Formats: sequence, C-alpha cells, structure tokens
Amino acid sequence: MILIGVTGGIGSGKSTVCSLFEKKGNPIFFADIVAKEIINSNGVVLQEIIDSFGNQVLDSSKKLNRKILAEIVFENKKLLDELNAIVHPRVFESFEQWKKQLPSKCVYALIESALLFESGFFELLDYSLAVIANDDERIMRVTTRDSVSVEQVTARMKQQISTEELLELSDFQIQNNGMLTDLSSKVNFFHTLFCTLTSPKAIE
Ligand code: ADP
Repeated sequence: MILIGVTGGIGSGKSTVCSLFEKKGNPIFFADIVAKEIINSNGVVLQEIIDSFGNQVLDSSKKLNRKILAEIVFENKKLLDELNAIVHPRVFESFEQWKKQLPSKCVYALIESALLFESGFFELLDYSLAVIANDDERIMRVTTRDSVSVEQVTARMKQQISTEELLELSDFQIQNNGMLTDLSSKVNFFHTLFCTLTSPKAIE
C-alpha cells in the first residue's frame, strides 16, 4: 500500500482536497487533529508542556490554555520546535497504530499534515502532495472560514513553510486557485495516478 502525505499552507485547500479523496473511499490520517487530541488529553504530554513552558500555559482551573500556548510558540521558532518535539513522536506512534487497522485491499492511504516536512512525517511516507494557492486567495478563504483578520492570517502564513519550499520538497502539486469543480477534476486525476503507483521503497 502507498502512503501519501498531503500538505499545504493555511487556506490552500488541503482539507478540501482530503475530503474529496475521502469521498472516493480512501482512508485518511488527520495528523493535525491527532496532535490536538494528544495535547488536550494526554496527561504525560501536558506535564511535559508545563515543564517546558511553565504555568503560564494553564488557565485558572489548571487546564491547558491552547490559545496562550499557540501565542507563545508562534512568536518563537525555538519554542515551536520544543513543542513539536513533545507532540510529534506521539503522533507518529498513533499513525503506526492507525496503519495496522487499514484494510489489506487498500491501494493507497493519505496523511493530512500541515507540518508534513517540518515534523519529519514525510520520511515515514512514500510520496508527498502539496496543495498550492495564491496568497490573496488563501487570505480571502481563511478570513471567510475562521472570521479572523487579514493581519492574523498573514502572520500565520509567515510562520509556515513557503510556497517555493513546498514546490521544491513535494513530489506532486495541486494548484487550487480556481473553482471547486476544477479541484475535483484534479483530485480525480491524482486518484487514478495513485492507484498505479509503486512505493519507491519497493523499487530501491
Ligand atoms: P486548509 O485546510 O488548507 O487550511 P481548506 O481546505 O479548509 O484549507 O480551505 C479553506 C476554505 O476555502 C474552506 O472554507 C474551503 O471550503 C474553501 N475552498 C477551498 N478551495 C476552494 C476553491 N477551489 N473554491 C472555493 N472555495 C474553496
């Protein structure tokens, strides 16, 4: 079975692409959701976060205040790396468990991850697919989707890997600047392609 990582900057349309693949019956591991669940519910992880970032990340009822944690790490790359070092190994463990329950008839499975390259997740996979869109389009989509300001989206975009880097690192790209019907056709194309691919690990 082929494992393909899907990534892209905020508002590029990676979740939309994944939901189109999901409609075709392909299993998807949602790494970002798993990471959030781990941060929220794993007591050992919470303690490690407190040890690294102090009590300032807790609210008055001693629960993790994710908003404060996000503010701290998004302003400081070193602290972001520290948080990722706590969370990502657990995400990988969860992924290994998830892989075990995949049906044997499954030809390919997808992994949606905003941090596919930064986290090193891509090294566990066969191929990567980057969803790319123009900055203006992304800003418009995210301000509509999340009711956040243009400044907030732009700040988030600056924290993320650039489009140029994504184009260089990824095996495949989907340009998503057009209509949803165009996006659907592109997903159909890649679905057909992915059904014919062999793992590069099997070729080596
Ligand atoms: P990401 O997961 O990369 O942050 P999403 O897939 O959530 O991005 O897309 C951001 C928003 O833009 C969503 O509300 C989605 O429905 C919308 N969207 C994505 N692609 C298109 C498109 N081609 N045309 C119109 N709206 C789109």
